[in-house]
Amino acid sequence: MAIWLKRGMAAQAKADADRKVRDIVEAALVDIQARGDAAVREMSIRFDGWDREDYRLSQGEIDAAVESLTPQERKDIEFAQTQVRNFAQIQRASMQDVEVETMPGVVLGHRNVPINAAGCYVPGGKYPLLASAHMSVITAKVAGVKRVITCAPPFQGKIARAIVAAQAMAGADAIYALGGIQAIGAMALGTQTIDPVDILVGPGNAYVAEAKRQLFGRVGIDLFAGPTETLIIADEAGCDAELAATDILGQVEHGPDSPGVLLTNSEKLARQTMAEIERLLQILPTADHARKAWDAYGEVIVAESYEEMVRIADDIASEHVQVMTGDPDYFLENMTNYGALFLGARTNVSFGDKVIGTNHTLPTKKAARYTGGLWVGKFLKTCTYQRVLTNEASTLVGEYCSRLCALEGFAGHGEQANIRVRRYGGRNVPY
Ligand code: NAD
Repeated sequence: MAIWLKRGMAAQAKADADRKVRDIVEAALVDIQARGDAAVREMSIRFDGWDREDYRLSQGEIDAAVESLTPQERKDIEFAQTQVRNFAQIQRASMQDVEVETMPGVVLGHRNVPINAAGCYVPGGKYPLLASAHMSVITAKVAGVKRVITCAPPFQGKIARAIVAAQAMAGADAIYALGGIQAIGAMALGTQTIDPVDILVGPGNAYVAEAKRQLFGRVGIDLFAGPTETLIIADEAGCDAELAATDILGQVEHGPDSPGVLLTNSEKLARQTMAEIERLLQILPTADHARKAWDAYGEVIVAESYEEMVRIADDIASEHVQVMTGDPDYFLENMTNYGALFLGARTNVSFGDKVIGTNHTLPTKKAARYTGGLWVGKFLKTCTYQRVLTNEASTLVGEYCSRLCALEGFAGHGEQANIRVRRYGGRNVPY
């Protein structure tokens, strides 16, 4: 049986925090729906101290952001965007349309149709997370979305220049300097100056994730992508305390509500990692966020076997799962609930977050039980169609359909089938 050397926040405290966020978001969305731009502006001032007549950036502001990059910064962003685009294109090519004759005269098919308009949120409250611009804007464009708009909050009271440069280089059609609930609400509901989109994508803090969740149905959403979570699965054959501690702190620095969990079969490695985390927290420049997150949400679990580690990891269903064990592929083959896997010590979550090419917008709060992360397929609707080529096929299907409609008591549906049996088969429907 596994033992917990450190436990995170109790479920009740998490539920209370969630409820507070839910209420704030609900009231804000009602206000945006009712008052549009005026509500958006008031919220931008209240939450971000950010006031503009028009939150859409002008071409001059966008060009200035791109030109502000040093040549190295520009090359680095281009490198990351090339990797993200390349993998998205490969994934797009793997999604084939289908058309097949399933029985004589009956043709069924599906087409992957791009969504018309996407709103891509790029987070930027605590850090200007420009990587999210590659992940959502490029992926939408590769899918074929015609109108891609994007929002990011101001950073330290100014336009977030690196984010804006990345949004522009990714090919966004319009860029807004807006953050939080006001950005999500404006893109989904529309205002006097912003046309609504069909799908909202991108990660964000608890307010952003909850706003997307509440708007689902009114618009599509990619997934529930809230505060970052990381799970390190480690044993003594694949990892040491310095690596495990570094990889936990590298993610919990996201913010005070980001869980970092170590799951190992070695109590020695567990205890050494906890000590190493304490040592590194003394020197990490972002220790402020990381300390709060580690104290409130950090967990250290010692399990007895790989099988038990898989069971616990699937139950946690973490956004990121980094596997540093003697046999990382065991976890690839056996785990079912994770946003993304990072296999072996040579890679790590930061590669995936920033540059390697897989998407970093990933499911949190156990959403990995039912969805993977953002990818080109989230911008495509797999829509079916059908054709019946012969009178014989229409009559055959019609007779089955008619009898099944009678079983359900659906007279109108039945007559849709019957009229075709009479017209194309020239006979009454036998019951
Ligand atoms: P953010 O852009 O998500 O949120 C900033 C906005 O939150 C501000 O613009 C403000 O309008 C709003 N806000 C802040 N406090 C508020 C309050 N009390 N009431 C209402 N609105 C408020 O930036 P962030 O805060 O730095 O968070 C980024 C988040 O994105 C982190 O939690 C990070 O872990 C997460 N993230 C998740 C993934 C994923 O795929 N799941 C990927 C990257 C980042």
